Amino acid sequence: MLCAVLDLWPVLADYPLGYPAGLGVLGLLVGSFLNVVIHRLPLMMERDWQRDCADLTGHVETDSPVAAFNLMVPRSRCPHCQQPIAAWDNLPVLSWLLLAGRCRHCRASISVRYPLVELSAAVLGVVAAWHFGATPSALWGAGFSWALLALAVIDLDTQLLPDDLTLPLLWAGLVANLFGYFVDLPTAVVGAMAGYLSLWVVYWGFKFATGKEGMGYGDFKLLAALGAWLGWQALPTIIVGAALVGAVVGLALIGLRRHERSKPLPFGPFLAAAGWINLIWGGPLRQLIGP
Ligand SMILES: [Zn+2]
Repeated sequence: MLCAVLDLWPVLADYPLGYPAGLGVLGLLVGSFLNVVIHRLPLMMERDWQRDCADLTGHVETDSPVAAFNLMVPRSRCPHCQQPIAAWDNLPVLSWLLLAGRCRHCRASISVRYPLVELSAAVLGVVAAWHFGATPSALWGAGFSWALLALAVIDLDTQLLPDDLTLPLLWAGLVANLFGYFVDLPTAVVGAMAGYLSLWVVYWGFKFATGKEGMGYGDFKLLAALGAWLGWQALPTIIVGAALVGAVVGLALIGLRRHERSKPLPFGPFLAAAGWINLIWGGPLRQLIGP
């Protein structure tokens, strides 16, 4: 499968639209998988915590066999009627449109979020191909964008940024820059360290000043990953951009009474968006702000 794709790559490069179209279609498929990750990864973490708690308290349930639950097993089901979803009803975007957003069996409505995530992943793939052209950076950049999409939606849902995503993303950034795809390796390593430490300092400063926690450790790890991919020079624009947009959105939501003031707004989606904008428009942005 992978060999076939790699064989196809030089052929695609001969056609100006081949690369964006290829990464767009790949994005649809990846988006479909991201929907599974977004839904199941937080549940898998919760199950792990419950198991750890049970171990600590010595309260182990031996009579209930634990059914396998991971990104592959069980098959996707309708959350309403529990009927398994057939492959032809699971085509990205298309199936949702053909079924008019309803389950084939019980006609319960299926959230518009599923096709939206698939469509977003396709657009991210097309933009990466358009920006980086027929280069390995386009594939790496698309992968980076897809990981950020999953992290942003999970953080919106659960206020969590799973280590299972942020830490591999950090390592992947260092590997990509081992080959110099985005920045050189020293810039990436310093970016990872500075990314983690800068938010760590803000966190403890804020906690010291107000006694409250303004963000979670997941935010530090995400910014470390962004630093590993984009280099330390990108960090100021990412932090300032994410904080400004976060403040505006937060105030707007409070104004519209869609959000309670006391509940913290997740910071991860803003960091992820600022990181992605830096991937595509980092150069012009820094010229605009810097000397
Ligand atoms: Zn159903």
